[in-house]
Amino acid sequence: MAEIVLDNVAHSYDGGNTYALKKIDMTWEDGSAYALLGPSGCGKTTLLNIMSGIVKPSQGRIYIDGVDITDKPTEDRNIAQVFQFPVLYDTMSVRKNLEFPLKNRKVAPDVIEKRVAEIAELLGLEDDLDIRPGKLRSDLQQIVSLGRGLVRSDVAAILFDEPLTVIDQNFKWTLRNRLKRLHLQTGVTLVYVTHDQTEALTFADKVLLMNAGEVVQTGSSEDLFLEPTHEFAGYFIGSPGMNFLDVSVKDSVVTFEGMKLGVADVSGLQGSYRLGVRPEFVTPGGAQGHQMTVVRVENRGGYQLIKLGLGSQTLLSKVESDVSVREGDKVAFTFVPERTFLFEHKVMCAKVQPAGKGR
Ligand code: ATP
Repeated sequence: MAEIVLDNVAHSYDGGNTYALKKIDMTWEDGSAYALLGPSGCGKTTLLNIMSGIVKPSQGRIYIDGVDITDKPTEDRNIAQVFQFPVLYDTMSVRKNLEFPLKNRKVAPDVIEKRVAEIAELLGLEDDLDIRPGKLRSDLQQIVSLGRGLVRSDVAAILFDEPLTVIDQNFKWTLRNRLKRLHLQTGVTLVYVTHDQTEALTFADKVLLMNAGEVVQTGSSEDLFLEPTHEFAGYFIGSPGMNFLDVSVKDSVVTFEGMKLGVADVSGLQGSYRLGVRPEFVTPGGAQGHQMTVVRVENRGGYQLIKLGLGSQTLLSKVESDVSVREGDKVAFTFVPERTFLFEHKVMCAKVQPAGKGR
């Protein structure tokens, strides 16, 4: 196990015209489970491949336990990688595929036997060990591929590039939990690429949220949900994502189309900002509420999604099923103070308190 450091790393595939990965400085803490989360094309695979050695970064250095490995090939890095689709030898049995990474490193036969049995048990492959992978369903082939990534116990980290894409929805959940169990048992650093927020949030201790080649926020799933430091975290995390209003701020007083919405908790703000508040934190009632028109009420089974009109814009509120509102009603809704943010150039710069409570 080891600490991996990315120092000033960036990558361009086209000689510096565009950067698939913009500058990143990061220490991957030993034993943590990370998710790289973001939309297609945001640079997740590029970052992963830089760590494993498939891609050499255009700039910056990579260290494992203080040793510069930037110029080392994949096989000398002590990093295992599992890809989106199965990478297996079909001339060998499942057992031999699982043994292969260990035999390659001259691990003792009794250790190999024990380790392969453990991994087969973890992944539910006990009955398939003597079959050739080609005879298995494609999702089971991918599970064997996962096993090949997990079988070595001496690696600095295991990198997963959307490994569950071809796995059936129900089994995905089981596998994710097994990976989590393996992580808790072995303490190996895991880095898991996904564009699925549920997958990232249930799996990882820390999520690196990426957009357009940049890590926009790193934190726990709670941090990303409750304290988004970038508009993109507000938009991408949550279902549905954050509401945004274009507001004016004068002497820290926040107004929207002439309506006073509150006061920023940072003094002296002036100009145009974006106010962001998640649907969960637009709540009915409250003495400091703002009058809004109920445009639509959708029962989503377990909660209601209410579309509200405020001036010329609409926003969403997510409330319990038993809250009684009807289309056309005019109701006061409150923006929960600790969960209402101002963003300047997409970066969070203040929270919005009810009028009279700010500085
Ligand atoms: P996805 O979820 O679709 O796999 P991603 O977040 O993993 O996307 P990358 O695959 O890292 O994103 O791609 C980042 C950017 O780099 C994209 O614009 C992509 O088109 C470009 N890119 C990726 N690989 C190459 C390559 N080998 N040559 C040129 N451009 C590439």
